[in-house]
Amino acid sequence: MTDTLDIKITKSAQSRLQETDFDNLPFGKTFTDHMLVADYADGEWKNFEILPYGPIELSPAISALHYGQAFFEGIKAYKHADGTVSIFRPDKNARRFNKSAERLCMPTLPEEVFVQSIAALVDLDRDWIPSKANHALYIRPFMFATDPFLGVTPSATYKYMVIIGPVGPYFSKPLRVKIETQYTRAAEGGMGYAKAAGNYGSSMLPARKAAEEGFDQLIWTDAKEHKYVEEMGAANAMFLLDGVLITAETKDTILDGVTRDTVIALAKEWGIPVEERKVSVAELIEGAKNGKLTDAFGAGTAATIASVASISYEGEEYFLSDPQTREFSQKVFKTLDAIKYGQAEDTHGWNYIV
Ligand code: PMP
Repeated sequence: MTDTLDIKITKSAQSRLQETDFDNLPFGKTFTDHMLVADYADGEWKNFEILPYGPIELSPAISALHYGQAFFEGIKAYKHADGTVSIFRPDKNARRFNKSAERLCMPTLPEEVFVQSIAALVDLDRDWIPSKANHALYIRPFMFATDPFLGVTPSATYKYMVIIGPVGPYFSKPLRVKIETQYTRAAEGGMGYAKAAGNYGSSMLPARKAAEEGFDQLIWTDAKEHKYVEEMGAANAMFLLDGVLITAETKDTILDGVTRDTVIALAKEWGIPVEERKVSVAELIEGAKNGKLTDAFGAGTAATIASVASISYEGEEYFLSDPQTREFSQKVFKTLDAIKYGQAEDTHGWNYIV
């Protein structure tokens, strides 16, 4: 589709921008003046509309609430020093959005419609994008089933929405992580590769238990044996072991992260060997003991590059080197930032200019 998406725009009567404290932006609590809504009915997407941000009315019987036909995406937009606004690799999210939709028996959205709808909303609320370091506009597209019908069957109607808001850093310090060996995030044949709302609901009890033990995040392991590392909280887990960047290969239990893909691309360009494969807990613990595990971090849109301070396994905590001294993740963080904020040339075409 090359023509522009037809979106009805109703602007808010009064902006909340002036009353927003940009020095205090806890993640995900502040939203801009507007949101985007579209409806799926009779086999097609229609009624694309941008309207003032606020509550929406829904039937209490909608299947999203009862049977979990709901999923989302997470993307960021950045403001460059010259005022340019860019969205980071939204085409990747558009593809993943549709993978989630297919897994949950929900309708897909043409990739250009996804990107254009987001860009239109970001453009309208561009004054909300913070220009401070480590700050960005978080973009949350989501879709949910709206048939007012209690039957375990795919809904015939859906809503696609986008809400956006200025955010600061998700994590404020390097993380103490625990390798989870009891609970499971995703099993083979399940929906771990989809950004299904239910995946996050099921992660909360294990995460809370870990927090009660003093840990910041969990490292999920495989459902069968709990011997192989899968992901880290809501980020992909990446390690530099003996000079090789290792991370779990994408399969049905792993979310195909945009940040993960970006880190791998940069590492390859820098001549660092990359292995996407099964990563065993045993080799990581061995590496932590003998010093060959020189870097460990979570990679994600919200998390950015979240350094791991220590890894705990079966009651033992293994401390890694000071994150400030880690060459690889520091370089990745700086390089990514420079591209996103327009301080370095975007040779990969990763920035979608709004
Ligand atoms: N894994 C999970 C389970 C996540 O929720 C996320 C966040 N979207 C990621 C990995 C990282 O993906 P991305 O880099 O696309 O944000």
